Amino acid sequence: MELKANRFVESATTAIRDRVLQTALDRGTTHALNARINAMSEVTDAAALRQQARAARLRALHSLPDLLEMLERKLTARGVHVLWASDGQECNRHILDIARRHHVRQIAKGKSMVTEETGLNRLLEGEGLDVVETDLGEFIVQIAHETPSHIIMPVMHKTREQVRDLFARELHMTPTDDPAALTAAARAYMRPRFIEADMGIQGCNFAIAETGTLITVTNEGNGRMCSSLPRVFVMAVGIEKVIETLDDFGTLLQLLTRSATGQRLSSYVHLINGPARPGDPDGPEAMYVVLVDNGRTSIYDGEYPEALACIRCGACLNTCPVYQNVGGHAYGWVYAGPIGAVVTPLLNGIHNAAPLPHASSLCGACKAACPVDINIPDLLLRLRADLVADGDADPAISLGVKGWAVAMRSPQLYEVAGKAASAASRVAAGYDETLHRLPGPLGHWTRNRDFPPFAAKPFRQLWRERKRQGRP
Ligand code: SF4
Repeated sequence: MELKANRFVESATTAIRDRVLQTALDRGTTHALNARINAMSEVTDAAALRQQARAARLRALHSLPDLLEMLERKLTARGVHVLWASDGQECNRHILDIARRHHVRQIAKGKSMVTEETGLNRLLEGEGLDVVETDLGEFIVQIAHETPSHIIMPVMHKTREQVRDLFARELHMTPTDDPAALTAAARAYMRPRFIEADMGIQGCNFAIAETGTLITVTNEGNGRMCSSLPRVFVMAVGIEKVIETLDDFGTLLQLLTRSATGQRLSSYVHLINGPARPGDPDGPEAMYVVLVDNGRTSIYDGEYPEALACIRCGACLNTCPVYQNVGGHAYGWVYAGPIGAVVTPLLNGIHNAAPLPHASSLCGACKAACPVDINIPDLLLRLRADLVADGDADPAISLGVKGWAVAMRSPQLYEVAGKAASAASRVAAGYDETLHRLPGPLGHWTRNRDFPPFAAKPFRQLWRERKRQGRP
């Protein structure tokens, strides 16, 4: 997918003014947020389960190279062809080669964020292959010629009314807002595609090293169709998806579905072990797993390996006040929201996504929601520090922060500076008391922030007066 993260401020400004988008985001995030809170409230000791899940992810990351080799051995022993891709191009090349080798013409594709990273669909379609996205949200995005705006709910940016109009236009159905009718239309469109597909492609939620099992967690059943109906099946797996044991999977699954969709368990959980064996009534004749790096090793070897612990549940997006207001497309790449603001700079180079670490109020809601307790605010702060250390900082803001740091070291200086700033704001030409905008170079700071007028009396003065009056 094309990277547009450096246009975050412009995209976010447009998104905030888009009333239809605001309606869609309000409905979508509110529903997802409440569903997760309700589902988590049923867990007896959610805090302990969360730490257990975090430990499972960190343990897996600690032994990642060994676990990947173990996974490869187990899969190969069952007849799965395992391929390694160092970057997106190599991943795409592997999958195109597989398609050519097996004379594939039609492809049924399940949800896969890693192939969104690599831009696989564009390549395959450019080579004349017919690719249909079979996850309902991804299908809507595909026929609308858009990109997903959420890890779990790709059409978080669309209202039901927009989907109605899209289906009427693209699928020639009688316009209706009824979700069941819309889903039935998509199913009728897809069913023959599943049957005719030569190849299925899908992403993976977890890859269990000790058993060589690949897991998909879905609600629509399309994953099972992609993995069992076509004669060739390919899974694209980010290398960080590996976990150690089946027990770890049990722990993580309880939190993944609750955090992602507010369900105790999703409708389908597939444990895939390999291609069809002799005598099996169904299953693919050939199965391939492409283990995709695409920048993950550099995260692993760097200062932010915790970012790889993410299980892509989307909870941090739904709870983030920035995501709730700007939606996913403003982030300018595959991953949006707080975790997107961390991994997009890490996977693409921090200067290619410089605004994203700043796209947070650091309120901590993302950390509180994260089922594996990733300290996202801390990661964002450290990325901001990296940007400053690399010289990627607004000079006016740097000057202001340095002045603030000096004043904060001395209570007397802080008081004097506060009074001076208050007086200056009253007499300075250009301060906009209504819009809370500062004049001149200081306007950099208030371009995207409020600077409310100073109080008539500072807190210290009020406090002294109160004490003089003998009030507690
Ligand atoms: S960072 Fe945590 S909350 Fe956000 S998507 Fe990943 S696992 Fe879910």
